[in-house]
Amino acid sequence: MHDTAANLDTARREIVEVCRRMLHSGLVTGTSGNVSVRIADRVLITPSGLDYDDMAPDDLAVLDLHDGSVVEATSPPSSEAPLHLAVYRSGEATAVVHTHSPWATALGLVRDTLPRVHYAIRALGGPVRVAPYATFGSAELAEHVARALQDRRGALMRNHGAVTIGTTLAEAAANAEKLEWLCQLYCRAARLGEPAELTEAQLDDVTRSAETTGYRL
Ligand code: 13P
Ligand code: ZN
Repeated sequence: MHDTAANLDTARREIVEVCRRMLHSGLVTGTSGNVSVRIADRVLITPSGLDYDDMAPDDLAVLDLHDGSVVEATSPPSSEAPLHLAVYRSGEATAVVHTHSPWATALGLVRDTLPRVHYAIRALGGPVRVAPYATFGSAELAEHVARALQDRRGALMRNHGAVTIGTTLAEAAANAEKLEWLCQLYCRAARLGEPAELTEAQLDDVTRSAETTGYRL
């Protein structure tokens, strides 16, 4: 338990840093989006409705993974806590990043999937699904997103935004940037015509090449 407490303290600082970086790179604006990390059976999550520039490590809340109860908090936890908990309960993620990043949100308004338009999509596990719309913070939205993330490290949310996951916070945050870049690429290309798509076999070749060359996807 002592380790968990020490790791939670480190994660508090890392989450605040990641939030600031996302704010300055335009992945989040105002108080939109939220970030969490799972450590053992605890989930550390950003507070609801607090400006990222004003957020301090102690503002983050600690939840119980199993029943979602608040273990420790000085501010109300993110309204999307049900979504973060559902993602942890349904897979291997140990970090979740939710944004309203502009290109990802735009694409989710007009498509059901982000296709394999660039090999970088391998990092997200393949074509990225768009989860159906449901009210923010609802159990229904949590369920839709957890399902859209099956065998993937990213999902889009109709009329809302995007979610990425990772086995580290750095990976989940890097996936949020990658997803936004891919959505921007797709939206720009789709204005000119039908974007060319890669096949699953071509992505498998990319994985093999990355393994032999050490190229990081
Ligand atoms: P919170 O400020 O409650 O985390 O909500 C932001 C958000 O993006 C809701 O979907
Ligand atoms: Zn949101």
